[in-house]
Amino acid sequence: VVNYILELVKDKIWGVRMLSNTVAIVGRPNVGKSTIFNRMIGERVSIVDETAGVTRDRIYGKCQWLTKEFSIIDTGGIQIQDQPFQKEIQAQVDIAIEEADTIIMLCNNRDGVTSDDQYIAKLLKKTNKKVLLAVNKVDDISFIDGIYDFYSLGLGDPIAVSATQAIGIGDLMDAIINSFDQKEINSYDSMISFAVIGRPNVGKSSLVNAILNQERVIVSNIEGTTRDAIDTPFEREGKSYVV
Ligand code: GDP
Ligand code: MG
Repeated sequence: VVNYILELVKDKIWGVRMLSNTVAIVGRPNVGKSTIFNRMIGERVSIVDETAGVTRDRIYGKCQWLTKEFSIIDTGGIQIQDQPFQKEIQAQVDIAIEEADTIIMLCNNRDGVTSDDQYIAKLLKKTNKKVLLAVNKVDDISFIDGIYDFYSLGLGDPIAVSATQAIGIGDLMDAIINSFDQKEINSYDSMISFAVIGRPNVGKSSLVNAILNQERVIVSNIEGTTRDAIDTPFEREGKSYVV
């Protein structure tokens, strides 16, 4: 059974959600979250349309900067129409708290600090996540003075960026990388992952244990990567897997 499973998964790649460091972009509509998300992952991710059946209100991407890889989430990736602002923002913040190590709060330099920005900043300050403040649409150096007002949000130094002009993206990426806890494992992307699912009591845990008993377990169970699941990395014939 073990051989059969490993044969099935051998060409699969390690899924983007499982990279240990995750960053979420939060902000009010039209500040440029999706544009900066696309800029950071370096490719256009087609935004799924808003028709019925789209239930996931987030879009994942994979990002690489210097030697680090991380996952990035556009928390407002699929905007649900006619939702009150506070409800939508609360949903974004909930996703960020649940999934991200670092949260980017994105603002729009052209609008200055709005009361909605203040509301978001207040919510984010209540979380114990690392929060970076980025101010978008600084397309030109002549706009730079506008960013200083954003100190009033109390989220530290604002990072000036322009998602469309590709300005300041490197500074933002540096700040993201520096925000990561150095102890975290960053090399998961080279691993092959597979999951065992099934009804209660069919023997999922026993099967996983049987696999692990005959392979070398690299590290013990890693908690917190996904809810209600246990990820255990192991090695077999020189290849790394996670079950
Ligand atoms: P979201 O609602 O926060 O995801 O915002 P979008 O990424 O959809 O962007 C909203 C609008 O702002 C779009 O028309 C973008 O083209 C525009 N936009 C995004 N980034 C910039 C920027 O750096 N400069 C300017 N001038 N416009 C931008
Ligand atoms: Mg968007």
